[in-house]
Amino acid sequence: MTNLTVLFGSMVFDDRKMQERLPRVTYKALKKTIKNGEPLDLSVANAVANAMKDWAVEMGCTHYTHWFQPMTGVTAEKHDSFICPAGDGQIIMEFSGKELIKGEPDASSFPSGGIRATFEARGYTTWDPTSPAFIRDKTLYIPTAFCSYTGEVLDKKTPLLRSMERLSNVAVQLLHLLGKTDVTRVTTTVGPEQEYFLIDKKMYDARPDLIYTGRTLFGAPAPKGQELEDHYFGSIKTRVAAFMNDLDEELWKLGIMAKTKHNEVAPSQHELAPIFATSNIATDHNELTMEVMKKTAEKHGLVCLLHEKPFAGVNGSGKHNNWSISTNTGENLLDPGKNPENNVQFQLFLAAVIKAVHEYQDLLRLTVASAGNDHRLGANEAPPAIISMYLGDDLGALVESVIRGTEYKSSGETDMLTGVDVLPDFCKDSSDRNRTSPFAFTGNKFEFRALGSSLNIACPNYMLNTMVADELAQFYEELKSAVDLEAAAKELIRRTFTEHKNIIFNGDNYSQEWVEEAARRGLCNFRSMPEAMAHYVDKKNIDLFVRNGIVTEAEIRARYEIELEHYSKQIRIEALTMIDMAEKRITPAVISFVRELSDAAIAKKSLSASYSVFAETSLIEELSGELEQFVKKTAVLKEAVENAGKHSSSSQELATYYRESVFAAMEELRVLGDAMERKTSAEYWPYPSYGEILFGV
Ligand code: ADP
Ligand code: MG
Repeated sequence: MTNLTVLFGSMVFDDRKMQERLPRVTYKALKKTIKNGEPLDLSVANAVANAMKDWAVEMGCTHYTHWFQPMTGVTAEKHDSFICPAGDGQIIMEFSGKELIKGEPDASSFPSGGIRATFEARGYTTWDPTSPAFIRDKTLYIPTAFCSYTGEVLDKKTPLLRSMERLSNVAVQLLHLLGKTDVTRVTTTVGPEQEYFLIDKKMYDARPDLIYTGRTLFGAPAPKGQELEDHYFGSIKTRVAAFMNDLDEELWKLGIMAKTKHNEVAPSQHELAPIFATSNIATDHNELTMEVMKKTAEKHGLVCLLHEKPFAGVNGSGKHNNWSISTNTGENLLDPGKNPENNVQFQLFLAAVIKAVHEYQDLLRLTVASAGNDHRLGANEAPPAIISMYLGDDLGALVESVIRGTEYKSSGETDMLTGVDVLPDFCKDSSDRNRTSPFAFTGNKFEFRALGSSLNIACPNYMLNTMVADELAQFYEELKSAVDLEAAAKELIRRTFTEHKNIIFNGDNYSQEWVEEAARRGLCNFRSMPEAMAHYVDKKNIDLFVRNGIVTEAEIRARYEIELEHYSKQIRIEALTMIDMAEKRITPAVISFVRELSDAAIAKKSLSASYSVFAETSLIEELSGELEQFVKKTAVLKEAVENAGKHSSSSQELATYYRESVFAAMEELRVLGDAMERKTSAEYWPYPSYGEILFGV
């Protein structure tokens, strides 16, 4: 039996190790940087670097790497050894403060959205002391931020750190105004619930679409899908359980608090939720979790799929971003407390979130937009593409009472009576869940549910932090010179609730009535990634980021370009993979099967003209007709891909073309491919079926 308390964090240069290994003054200085965001000087960095290196070498490491999150969508690392010449052909292991603070990966091969020409190759990674270093594969990993030589931000972490800083500053200002002068720092916290699929490696290896694109581009549904709902929370298969146990251990070693695991709705789908952490650490941990999931799966002969929609016809995978704000004095600012009706502070923060989500619904929508997530949003398995907020009965009633100036009555906590003596009775949550809402209040936090499973959570979180910070700053400006603060705050809250209540919707987000109602309310409904992304560069959004010092206009435009380019490339890879599968394997397979049918029919007839060849000939007829269409549609798709060059005057135009022409042609081709799969002998069909992949049959 493993000793969990020893195992947990054993691969992390965590607080306990820092305390043990650093001189007291160094430790104190470092803690100040971590806790209060104070700048760090080189002597401290030297001492920390040395202690880190000693620990890493004792743990068997020979290398270190600056670990960063460029705009590619995956993390990046460049490994250097600790080796240093010590004269006479000898070596010593060294690691200086400078090396800890600054790395210089060549920036030219990372996406910059046209910010830099390739000859301006220099880029820097800078140590982020707020996220602890850790060991993987005998290498010391140092979490870092990434920028270009001229200082442009080229990663996802820097805007996140800036947004956390900004939100802290304005929230502290406001709290001081409200009399909470002991608060010196406010942090945002995140707990991301991660969904994923696990499939057999042999099945994966036989599917070029999974290998190249992460999702199946063809595949007829299995006789059974998720309709019986027998997988959700079902007992976990032995092989999967072994994977999950191994995964938990690997994550715990890295100091990641993996807490909850269960089967999800779709066959072969699962979920993992950690205990929440500060946004920055939660982001690093979520990136690590996704990487460790993939590696651990390999060890068990499995493959972990993080694509948003690996299989048509069953649910895809998302990520729930549980988000809250708390003070360094331990107060959760989104906790309504026992009497929310008298809690002006809570109402102010609630009002800021409501106003932010209403005014920047387009940003929240576009930050979760991707080629993969386009298959989910609005498809009755994930929240719709329309952003709205669910407050639940209690908070909903509170907001109503404030708007109307009427008395508020909480439904209060009620006891849940199980009616069975041996089962304990317990206190029921005061409001039920609404699983269809994209942005739901869940007790003392908001759950943003529209994220795709593979998304780096830094992006939605820096958007969220920035927009809420901006509202809090406006509130502060309005209230700072009020004569009667309480009256002014109440008036501000009433006005904000009234002006922004249109974003609140407690009903069924999947219903057609909501789509119509949302349109009447003037809410955005962007159905696809290119449509949503266009709003990244709307003036009001650029102004928001610039005003709050998160990124510059040039950086936003660069990010916008990168996202659109990435989208077009992804659809292009999918289209080319489909063409390849169609021409090289599917068409020849159907031709062979049809020949076999014809041979069989001829053979029968040569024995006796009286034998029925109805089965053979009707199948030949159906398949020949479909194959003709299939070959023609393959040609249409090829032509659509070839014509892309004519629509490339801007990244926006190209992405829109890929969506409207190429993707549409892919969907048509798939319908025919899947129809032929249903009729073609399994012996001839070149790829494992959904049944084999998802159910092992
Ligand atoms: P559910 O399935 O009901 O949505 P889970 O228990 O699976 O809930 O996940 C809830 C997530 O919310 C967990 O990751 C949890 O740590 C996180 N969480 C709880 N409190 C906070 C908070 N104050 N800030 C951020 N995340 C939180
Ligand atoms: Mg959830």
